[in-house]
Amino acid sequence: MTAPQVTLVTGAARGIGFGIARRLVADGGRVVIADVAGAEAAARALGAAARPMTLDVSDEKSVQGGIRSVLETEGRLDGLVNNAGISNPVSGPVEHLERADWERWLAVNLTGAFLLAKHALPALRDSGGAIVNIASSRAHQSEPDTEAYAASKGGVVALTHALAVSVGPEVRVNSISPGWVDVRPPEEQVADPLPATDHAQHPAGRVGTPADVAALAAFLLGPEAGFVTGQDWVVDGGMTRKMIYAE
Ligand code: NAD
Repeated sequence: MTAPQVTLVTGAARGIGFGIARRLVADGGRVVIADVAGAEAAARALGAAARPMTLDVSDEKSVQGGIRSVLETEGRLDGLVNNAGISNPVSGPVEHLERADWERWLAVNLTGAFLLAKHALPALRDSGGAIVNIASSRAHQSEPDTEAYAASKGGVVALTHALAVSVGPEVRVNSISPGWVDVRPPEEQVADPLPATDHAQHPAGRVGTPADVAALAAFLLGPEAGFVTGQDWVVDGGMTRKMIYAE
């Protein structure tokens, strides 16, 4: 697959974001690894095609400065992946959820995607680029005590279709809703493997990997997805299609 020339991936120091950055570099693109921490080491691991950037997606000044710096150093921006997030879904019983904590989940997971899109749009319009927002299967179904995370990801799905309608035809916007993706470092996965039942419950027979999400992100960012915009793409090994009534 041909990668966009330059893609900014937020939260790419580790986990799914790093997997997406690695895939885009393997496909021949350049990536900017934007994260609150760890961007240097992640970029070093990917070589000369990756540039590190310390950026807080919930801080508009930081986002503005980051986009300006991408344009100064790279001269263009073709892809934006809004992946950074507070990935812990559990905020506890809603009666005890502090407003400040609720707002923090929304600030990083939802407002962050808005701020990046807002400030990247002029450059993405110039290049005829694409945005991929990382939502979650929790935008569509829930476990108890996950209100803040679920609401933030539902917001990401809605932001995605609203943006797609506003910024097309120059820019396409899609979201990916991953299910369970094991983002632990490989050595940890070997030392402490998931029980077989964790894998077997998935219609696809296994828990997901960052590479599963990265493959779809690479497609959605690329030219072969030219007729695909405004959609949410669930990558969950089939879990959200499975009826789970107790026997
Ligand atoms: P992770 O916690 O391993 O990585 C998240 C990254 O985001 C970290 O590098 C972190 O430093 C960065 N980050 C956090 N706040 C930031 C901020 N304010 N500004 C910039 N960077 C920030 O999580 P992950 O599992 O790789 O998740 C990545 C995305 O995928 C998240 O949006 C998460 O909600 C979503 N997701 C993950 C799963 C899963 O099972 N792993 C499932 C569904 C959705």
